[in-house]
Amino acid sequence: MTPHLLPGARLVTATLAILVSVSAARADTVVIEHVTLLDGVHAPQPDMTVAVDGARIAAVTPSVIAHDLKGRRIDGRSRFLIPGLMDVHIHLRGGFDPGPTPGGEPAPPNRQEGVEALASFLYAGVTTVVDVGNRPEHILPLRADERAGRVLAPRIFATGNLITYPGSHGDRIAVRISDFEKDKALLDRHITEQQPDILKLTLEEEGWGSRPMIPLMPVELLGKIIRYYNLHGIRTTVHVSSELRSLEAIYAGSDTLAHPVIQGPVSDSFVKLMAAKKIPFASTLTIGDNYSRLVEHPEYLDQPLYVASFSAADREELRTRTRAEYKSRTWTAWMKVMTPIAEENVRKVHVAGGVVACGTDQSSGAATHRELELLAQAGIAPLDIIRIATYNGAVFLGKSDQLGSIDTGKLADLVLLSKDPATDINNAKSIVFVMKNGQIIDESQLPLAGGRQPRRFSGS
Ligand SMILES: [Zn+2]
Repeated sequence: MTPHLLPGARLVTATLAILVSVSAARADTVVIEHVTLLDGVHAPQPDMTVAVDGARIAAVTPSVIAHDLKGRRIDGRSRFLIPGLMDVHIHLRGGFDPGPTPGGEPAPPNRQEGVEALASFLYAGVTTVVDVGNRPEHILPLRADERAGRVLAPRIFATGNLITYPGSHGDRIAVRISDFEKDKALLDRHITEQQPDILKLTLEEEGWGSRPMIPLMPVELLGKIIRYYNLHGIRTTVHVSSELRSLEAIYAGSDTLAHPVIQGPVSDSFVKLMAAKKIPFASTLTIGDNYSRLVEHPEYLDQPLYVASFSAADREELRTRTRAEYKSRTWTAWMKVMTPIAEENVRKVHVAGGVVACGTDQSSGAATHRELELLAQAGIAPLDIIRIATYNGAVFLGKSDQLGSIDTGKLADLVLLSKDPATDINNAKSIVFVMKNGQIIDESQLPLAGGRQPRRFSGS
């Protein structure tokens, strides 16, 4: 990383170059002044000025030498600027809902539900989501619409269908591969027609918690598929839940893992390996926490982010039918026991120097903030959580040159906060405005399931 505070002469030269380019900028340049920068990559930087020109960050400089930056001024005094949050493990609502009856027939894709869920992310300051398994006819048109600016949504990266062995985990939304040579045409079709931003595979025989055992993809086949996608320039992620399968996926060549180890405590050697190899993995604590939380604390549904993210009817359904159903499931009790273990696994790998990226395995901006709360509950410091939810997500995607920190030249996905998230990660909810691609989001235009919200930021 290039530090912002360059010594003496270099600072002046660099700043002059920036001033020239920003002065020549278009009229829509925005200059956020006297703000504290917190991106979890650089040390916190008070009294900084950030200029945004078009879609990108044009300058990041101490306010004391930023007077000549031209553009619309925004007062950042007593405010905090973080990069847009990233959720690297979602399954966008409307196409794939795990729901209470696994194995049940999925409903036809519901575009409106997808659009509303996407709005909930932007509303919560999540400017990038990674959909790691969905029905292609649901997620891919939304991805195209987002890229063309036709829908108000975070950046969408998607796998389309995931890939697994017939009958294995995620089979319902997967391309099923049993033999590499015989089924290669299916992989070619997936690559050509769905253009996955990242490939998702599953290496999971279940047989834990309350789930019966199912077929497992042979590791040799997994390795061949990973290599094939890498040879097409595509990164990979693998669903795993145990230390054994995590190791197998890593040595089969996977670039990332879609979950932490959740079946039991990790060994010290696994922690060391994760720190040595720096394989990014999605934290996904929220999915396991979700069941007992709804049973024991349904009042969380009254929090503002949930009220905005879900319709009144959906929240009522969760409070009544879904809650009763969760209450009766062995899975709920199992996940309540395992969530603290998963939290400790995540914390250990993080402390050792591994790369944790924020992911929820859910589909709302409210859930992304729940993930931040659980990372804090795991004992991870707020500033580290900001990095986990921003820069490390970009590393997960292989896009840390474009996204994830507050640096000149990066895409201007930013969130301005009124309270300091470095003292309490819950302050990441104190949103003044959300900026994606250099544009401040007008919340009154977001089609939230909970109804239209007023615009948060009036312009100063
Ligand atoms: Zn998932």
